[in-house]
Amino acid sequence: MTTETTLNRRQLVKLSASAAAGLIIARSASAQEAALAESDPTALALGYAEDASKVDTAKWTKKAGPDGEKQLCSSCSLYQPIDDVWGGCSIFPGKKVKGAGWCNAWISG
Ligand code: SF4
Repeated sequence: MTTETTLNRRQLVKLSASAAAGLIIARSASAQEAALAESDPTALALGYAEDASKVDTAKWTKKAGPDGEKQLCSSCSLYQPIDDVWGGCSIFPGKKVKGAGWCNAWISG
C-alpha cells in the first residue's frame, strides 16, 4: 500500500463524513418545511388528509376495508420520516406530510 493510497482512503473517509453531516443538516432543514395543506390542489386531487381516519372511503375506495386501514403515510414507500409526526413525500417536494395522513398515491412500503 502506498502513502498516496492511504491518503486517498483518508480523504474518502473525510468526504463520507462530510456527506453524512450534510444529509443530517438537510434532514434538519426539512423539519422546518411547511406542512402540506389539505387545500393544496395536488393534495385535493389525491384526497390527502392529515388524519387518515377522516378519509371519505366512499369516494376514496382504495382506503376502504381492512387493507385500507393499514394505509398511512408512515407505511407508504414514498414516506421519508423527519420526526415522530412528520415526513417528506416525493409526491409533494418541499412540503412535509403527516405520518398519520394518507393520500390516494399510497404505495405499499
Ligand atoms: Fe402520504 Fe404516501 Fe400519499 Fe405521500 S404518497 S402523501 S407518503 S400516502
